[in-house]
Amino acid sequence: MTQSKSMKQLSSQFFENNGPLKGINICVIGGGFVGLASAAGFAQFGHAVVCVEKDSRRLEQLMKGQLPFFEPELEELILRSIQAKRLSFTADLRQAIKGQRAIFITVGTPTGADGRTDLSALEEVTLSLSEVLEPDQIIVLKSTVPVGTGKHIESILSQNGRKNKPFAVVNNPEFLREGNAVNDFFRPQRIVIGGSVSEAVELVANIYKLGMSQPVPFVITNNETAEMIKYASNAFLAAKVGYVNELAGLCDLLGVNVLEVARAIGLDPRIGSEFLEPGPGWGGSCFHKDLKEFSGLAESKGYSLLITAAVLASNDRQHNLVVEKIKKLVGTLKGSKIGVLGLAFKANTSDVRESPAIAVVKNLLEQGAKVTAFDPKANGAAKEHLPALEIAESPYDTIRDSDCLVILTEWREFQLLDFKLIFETMRRPNIVDTRNLLTPELLSRFGFNYTGMGQT
Ligand code: NAD
Repeated sequence: MTQSKSMKQLSSQFFENNGPLKGINICVIGGGFVGLASAAGFAQFGHAVVCVEKDSRRLEQLMKGQLPFFEPELEELILRSIQAKRLSFTADLRQAIKGQRAIFITVGTPTGADGRTDLSALEEVTLSLSEVLEPDQIIVLKSTVPVGTGKHIESILSQNGRKNKPFAVVNNPEFLREGNAVNDFFRPQRIVIGGSVSEAVELVANIYKLGMSQPVPFVITNNETAEMIKYASNAFLAAKVGYVNELAGLCDLLGVNVLEVARAIGLDPRIGSEFLEPGPGWGGSCFHKDLKEFSGLAESKGYSLLITAAVLASNDRQHNLVVEKIKKLVGTLKGSKIGVLGLAFKANTSDVRESPAIAVVKNLLEQGAKVTAFDPKANGAAKEHLPALEIAESPYDTIRDSDCLVILTEWREFQLLDFKLIFETMRRPNIVDTRNLLTPELLSRFGFNYTGMGQT
């Protein structure tokens, strides 16, 4: 592969669509949230996709067209793609990459023991690829990877027999949100592609252009900048949520309504209205690990990301503030019965990784409370994290005879519960609504002691 076309030529706000595009052969390694949304999305674009998953239980489900977790619309998309014979699943990496043009890697990049990113899954895949890569195949890093990883992967491949054999490593970080992954895949706000081999970058851009029904801003850059963009984006988003959470805390003390404050400040386009909803703290598989990596990276260069470090500390405090709100209503936690609604880190997902609900429940259990919980989709995953947690069959079973109802995930169906009935079955009518999901005036009319976030 040559670097014939200048990267500047490729860089434009709207990537021009010049000429007919054809489906290409793609391999996606890793059948998780990102891998499956990408694999099914690319198949829907008209590409032929093979997805490699090493977990045998997960693979078995995927081969039957079953999604191993809850993500709206994704299972239907996978099934349609399998039926159209444009998507298949395998554990055999060697076979899977035969004849593919682009190999997307979407394996997990969790926090390691040293607080920095553990790249072992990615390195393992790279070593396997080094044995079987065909000439001119393009490796696309879709996993979130520390700045410098693209070059690191290139050097692993060069040191393991690929020297003087053409290959290219491109970064294409993913920005989808769980709970909205399918929509985000088909309607992204931008597509970031970083690499030094222009044909490889162009091919990755074409993979998207084939399926996009509307113009999408492309950011074409080098590997390191693409890697940095993903961390910069997540650190900013976490800071925004952290900020509104801190505002809510202060509003509680001053008797000011944070919702009115958030609405008003969000009307300023420099601030923007999204991500200004106070809650029990942000969660999910990405923010925590990405902010840790970002801070660690800065420190390794003798620099401090003071805001990022504060955002991490502020989020931990938020979990404690929720527990304090519960204590304020019930008195001592020891022996109290707490009914929890919501365990997923946000609505519309079954994912409990770094869920604030799990942190809060753990704290309650440690302080001697008896906790019963219910989540529409995340009961099984939560039980794996917290075996001591009692899971109820329904929201009403969770709340019956409890001293406090705590809402920790913003599932809309919790708004539709019969609160008159709930009032009658609770031991003490206390509600801590960490998502400001319910209407305080209505609940007060029933006789509840209601506490939201920043709404006292
Ligand atoms: P995940 O843990 O849900 O999925 C990873 C999958 O890869 C698992 O199914 C695992 O079994 C599989 N895997 C691991 N090693 C493998 C191997 N050698 N061969 C084949 N399969 C293998 O992870 P995820 O949430 O999809 O995240 C993947 C990456 O994308 C991470 O870097 C993450 O930071 C990033 N990301 C995630 C999200 C999100 O919302 N989940 C959003 C944007 C970016």
